[in-house]
Amino acid sequence: MGALPQENQSSWTADLYAEIGAMLAAHGLEPSPAHYELIHCYLTAGDAQLVTAIDDTIRQYGTLTPAMAATIAAQRRGELSPVELERMADDAQRRLQAIAAIADRSGRDARDYGDALARNVSALEIGPKSDALVSLMDLTRAMIDKTRSAGEELRRVSDEVMTLRSCLAEARKTAETDALTGLPNRRALDMKMRLAFEAARDQGSPLSLAICDIDAFKAVNDQHGHQLGDKVIKFMAGALARNAPESLYIARYGGEEFVMLFEGMTAQQAADYIDVIRAEIAAREFKVAETGRPIGRLTFSAGVAALEGRKGPTATLKLADAALYRAKRDGRNCVRVAE
Ligand code: GH3
Ligand code: MG
Ligand code: MG
Repeated sequence: MGALPQENQSSWTADLYAEIGAMLAAHGLEPSPAHYELIHCYLTAGDAQLVTAIDDTIRQYGTLTPAMAATIAAQRRGELSPVELERMADDAQRRLQAIAAIADRSGRDARDYGDALARNVSALEIGPKSDALVSLMDLTRAMIDKTRSAGEELRRVSDEVMTLRSCLAEARKTAETDALTGLPNRRALDMKMRLAFEAARDQGSPLSLAICDIDAFKAVNDQHGHQLGDKVIKFMAGALARNAPESLYIARYGGEEFVMLFEGMTAQQAADYIDVIRAEIAAREFKVAETGRPIGRLTFSAGVAALEGRKGPTATLKLADAALYRAKRDGRNCVRVAE
């Protein structure tokens, strides 16, 4: 755009302005700064991911509603705030209320029709037959029209709610997933821990958790760069999650740390499980795929603690963290159980 002559540049700007306006209008999007920025970025193809997201949405749903635009904008910022989710839920709620109002109206119409029919039946018995029949037919026709348009409206709103719900489910998934590894993130882990702890207490079944932390990871970043560091985090996530039984939940806790929840397992059983993975990884030599440059061994240490008595997730995590600290102090590349 910088190389364009002045005259062309201003007509191009005017065209862009008109196109943005047309697109906002076509999708019933309010001309807010957020919508303007989103569509501007879409039309100038400033962000390939954004263009794909908008194209996919329009292809799939035939439109770009304010809720969808908000989801895409939030994804672009790399986060979905609770406020955004709440706003979407409110939107869904309002639409559901609209459905309820339509259903009420249909019910009232049907009742009115019933009453009118009853009145006309008596008229048929006592008054001139033709008048009563005409009135009855008009009423029937009106009733059918009303029912049909109420039905169409109901279907339209319910389609919109369905679209909105799938957007919301998608948004929630994004908000609870770690973008690098695809594992549940800390927010999802907090929720899962609360539920798992309650269930284990109610059923009196064992529950253990482990914190796994990659050893000397800073050195990997320092020697090979952050991009390779990211690949190592992804590799570790995959190694911990590979062949995991269904009762095992793994989340990225932060940086180079993962938390594993073992439902139905004692701390020792969990430690034995992790130790097998630790030994397998520690036995390998790694190198950079593209250059063949050696990385050496990649190891991790872990601390394991079990749910006991009235202790909650936070206290158990603290115990596991203390056990992890012992594992690091004991030379790393090992698993320790909380005492
Ligand atoms: P220790 O064996 O004691 O755990 O040592 P460490 O070097 O693994 O631990 P330390 O806490 O000193 O360093 C962790 C490093 O992880 C520091 C931080 O820059 C890096 N890190 C955190 N998150 C990411 C990430 O997402 N990608 C990359 N590449 N590095 C990260
Ligand atoms: Mg760490
Ligand atoms: Mg570390």
